[in-house]
Amino acid sequence: MVENRERHSLSEVEVDLLAVRQKRDLSCFDLVSISQLKNRDLELIFEVARAFRDYKTYKFSFNKGFSQINAFFEPSTRTMASFDLAAKQLSMDTTSVSSSSSVSKGESFLDTVETLDSYNVKTMIIRSAESGVPEMAAKHTQASIINAGDGWHEHPTQALLDALTILDYFGGKSLRGKTVTIVGDIMHSRVFGSLVRILKKLGADVRIAAPLTLIPKSVEKFGVKWFGDIEAAIKDVDVIYALRIQSERGASGFIPTLREYSKMFGISRKRLDLAKPSAILMHPGPVIRDIDVHSALAALDPQSFILKQVENGMAVRKALLWLLADRLDGKVKEFRRL
Ligand code: ASP
Repeated sequence: MVENRERHSLSEVEVDLLAVRQKRDLSCFDLVSISQLKNRDLELIFEVARAFRDYKTYKFSFNKGFSQINAFFEPSTRTMASFDLAAKQLSMDTTSVSSSSSVSKGESFLDTVETLDSYNVKTMIIRSAESGVPEMAAKHTQASIINAGDGWHEHPTQALLDALTILDYFGGKSLRGKTVTIVGDIMHSRVFGSLVRILKKLGADVRIAAPLTLIPKSVEKFGVKWFGDIEAAIKDVDVIYALRIQSERGASGFIPTLREYSKMFGISRKRLDLAKPSAILMHPGPVIRDIDVHSALAALDPQSFILKQVENGMAVRKALLWLLADRLDGKVKEFRRL
C-alpha cells in the first residue's frame, strides 16, 4: 500500500517538538491499561504533552495523511471532544460512530471494529459501557487502539492527564511523599482503575474514602488504605480526588440516597480545609454539584484544579496520538483478524 503522505518541511515549532521527542517511541502500540506503560513511557508522554501545551492552538502537520475513528458506544463530552480536536490539530481526518452504530442492531463489537479498521485508520478511540472491548479490539486491528473508558475497568488517558496535573503542580518527576485521597464510587469507577495504577507507579501514598458498599474486595492489591470516615481520610493530604456516583452502572443500589451519601462523603469547604493548605481538589467530570463536590468549590475556587485537568487532557491526548500514529522506529503493530 502506498501512503498518500509526504513529509512537509517542518516549521520552527515542529522542530521544537521533535527536539523534545528526541526520536523516542512508546513501548506499546495501543493504550488499553496504564499497566502497559513503563516509567520511561510516562516520562515521554508528559514531556511531549508539556511541549504541546506551549502551543495550544497551533496546527501541526505531524499526522497529516492519517485518519482517526472515534468509536464512542457510550456518552462522552470531554474525552470525545478533546480526542477529536487533538487529532485535527495534528492534521488528521476524523470521523465518529456512536451508540447508534451497528452494535445496536446486533452486530458484535469485533465485527464493527474490524469493519472500521478496514478504512485504514491509524488510530481508533474506543469507549464502551462494557469492560474489555478496547483490549479485544487491540488484538485484531492494524490501527492503534486507545481506551477512552471501558465499563468499570480503566480510563488511561484520564489518569495520564491527572498525573500530569499533579506532577506539574508539585514539581518533580515522582509523587514520592505525596498523599492522594480518592473519594467516591471506587467500585464502579474506571477512572479509579487507571488513577490508582498511575499514582502507585509514581510513588504516591493513596487513600480511598467511601462507604464500604462501594469498595471492591480486590482493592487491597493496589496497596491503598480505606477510610470510612471522610474527615480522617483527608486530614493533611496533598490531593483530594472526588469521583461521581456511577448511577448508570447501578451504584444507587449501594448507597442509601445521593443526599445521604453527600452528607457523609461530599467535599465541602470545611472538609477541604482539613487537607494541607497547599492541597488541590480534582474531579474527572462530570461534576454533580452539591453531591460529589460543593457547588462553590467546583470551578472557581483557587484550590479547584478541575478545569486545569480538562486543559491538560488536550495536551496529553495530542502527545499520545502523535507518539502512536507517527512512530519513528518504523516498527509496525502485529494483529490477527478473527
Ligand atoms: N468522565 C469519566 C468517565 O467517563 C468519569 C465519570 O463519568 O464519572 O469515566
